[in-house]
Amino acid sequence: MTDYYKTLGVGKDASAEEIKKAYRKLAVKYHPDKNPDDPSSEGKFKEVSEAYDVLSDAQKRSTYDRFGAEAVKGGAGGGMGGAQFSSMEDALRTFMGAFGGASGGESIFDSFFGGFDRGSQGSEGRPGASKKASLTITFEEAVKGVEKEISITNYVPCSSCKGIGAESRSDIKTCVTCRGQGQVHQTRGFFNMATSCPSCHGAGQIITKPCKSCHGTGRSKKKETIKVPIPAGIDNGMRIKLAGKGDAGEMGGPSGHLFVYVTVQPHAIFEREGDDVYINLPLSFSEAALGAKKEIPTPLNGSYKIAIPSGTQTGKVFRVRAQGVPNVHHRSPGDLMVQIHVETPVSLSEKQKMLLRELQELETSKNSPKNRSFLEKMKLFF
Ligand SMILES: [Zn+2]
Ligand SMILES: [Zn+2]
Repeated sequence: MTDYYKTLGVGKDASAEEIKKAYRKLAVKYHPDKNPDDPSSEGKFKEVSEAYDVLSDAQKRSTYDRFGAEAVKGGAGGGMGGAQFSSMEDALRTFMGAFGGASGGESIFDSFFGGFDRGSQGSEGRPGASKKASLTITFEEAVKGVEKEISITNYVPCSSCKGIGAESRSDIKTCVTCRGQGQVHQTRGFFNMATSCPSCHGAGQIITKPCKSCHGTGRSKKKETIKVPIPAGIDNGMRIKLAGKGDAGEMGGPSGHLFVYVTVQPHAIFEREGDDVYINLPLSFSEAALGAKKEIPTPLNGSYKIAIPSGTQTGKVFRVRAQGVPNVHHRSPGDLMVQIHVETPVSLSEKQKMLLRELQELETSKNSPKNRSFLEKMKLFF
């Protein structure tokens, strides 16, 4: 004699909520995915599902209360095998109905594995997150290229289970709910809807014994030292992409990337603009006037000899080809831009003063109309 109330362990006056709660607990306990090695669980699962199917429906429950189990049997599985659902499909359909199917509600997975969170997206094989990191390098390092190390905490494949998430390969079973399809079909009125399988979240597989180290995620957190090759010519604010150096994916999903943002410290004498580099070259008054050979530092090779022609004015810029910074992509270097700054002499010795006065006299007596008019104007102030 079938007693649906006894099957679910509830009283005859149990509320709809109590019945649902009791069923959920038992259904999870006897679900074939959870008991792959116990064939008897399948029968129990069908039993409790059938009991719930009747007691959760007000009309069926009332019929059952008055006329017994035989009166409520019907449909495809009716009349076969006593009080049991004839097919697993019927039981699984009831099971999914009790958990709200794919339309939300309590996650079956949470019930299966004690509330363990598999991530809000739920789907397995998810790619790992991409990360950002920053690095500060010197001007010289940017010009010549360098290898740096940064340490970040990444998700890496779990070392205990090699990333599979289960104690062993045999603990990964084909999902019974969806038969490994990852999708389930539910009939709602006239509609047949395909939705992601609520048991396996679309993976088609169920882990019966999750790895103890990673709780089934297949990955764990680890502080890692990552080498960052910085190409010659990198400029302030540029970004280096290290493919696959972000978080490991879940359950064999692809790894994310690591993006390293580079800050280049300003240099004491070089100022960079694109691949060109500017340098200020101070010249004494006489060097500017008479011309000079000067040795200037370069960002790449150390030094460069430049010939300053006589009569060079302050602010004049000489371009030295290919002595700038190598382009980070095509490697051909920019130019070195030498900006002249003529320094007015200070703290003169008596001899220097005497020579300059001589120079001044020569300039004053010079019969240049431009000079004369300028000096005549100046006299107005003295
Ligand atoms: Zn693991
Ligand atoms: Zn499934």
